[in-house]
Amino acid sequence: MLNIVIFGAPGSGKGTQSDKLIEHYNLFHISTGDVLRDHIRRGTELGKTAKGYIDQGQLVPDELIIDILAQVLDDNKEQATQGVIFDGFPRTIPQAEALEQLLADRGTQIDAVVGLEVPEEELIKRILLRGQMSGRSDDNEETARKRLETYHNQTSPLKAYYEEKGKYRAINGLGSIDGIFDLIKESLDTL
Ligand code: AMP
Repeated sequence: MLNIVIFGAPGSGKGTQSDKLIEHYNLFHISTGDVLRDHIRRGTELGKTAKGYIDQGQLVPDELIIDILAQVLDDNKEQATQGVIFDGFPRTIPQAEALEQLLADRGTQIDAVVGLEVPEEELIKRILLRGQMSGRSDDNEETARKRLETYHNQTSPLKAYYEEKGKYRAINGLGSIDGIFDLIKESLDTL
């Protein structure tokens, strides 16, 4: 069983590479962004709260997102035992600590953090391109720049956090989708 965090800035290719990892390693996918967008579509109270943060390029508060993650893990116990890919979570140090505890309580742990490293200007280009295709309300230039700022301030310290634990795998996120996936596989196959 393999539990992986796919890590990187918005636009670094987390979703794309997650799809390939799920298929190759038969993992259960948990994307907190997808869970929030589903709440927004269904018009739930949580969705209304989350939309305010998402459209500002800000993070949803830790307590809220940690509760959501715990719920998803509990609702999918069976599938989660085969291994999970965490996509878009953790995004802060308190979230990483909570994840460690949630997994320890379930007798498991994170095996590796796959960090997709992509230069800033390429990230903006990719986000705007995705916005044209997906219609995601937060994929416009103003929100994209705010999301990158949020990433630098609150999320990027997780790289050092996981490096210290010996779990961070740096992957060059520039290149073809399959070429990047090969680098990820090479790195994970040494686990
Ligand atoms: P994503 O699809 O992962 O890019 O997430 C889209 C937006 O959802 C983010 O910009 C945040 O506003 C919110 N979000 C998703 N995951 C988290 C998280 N782990 N912590 C806080 N906010 C999150």
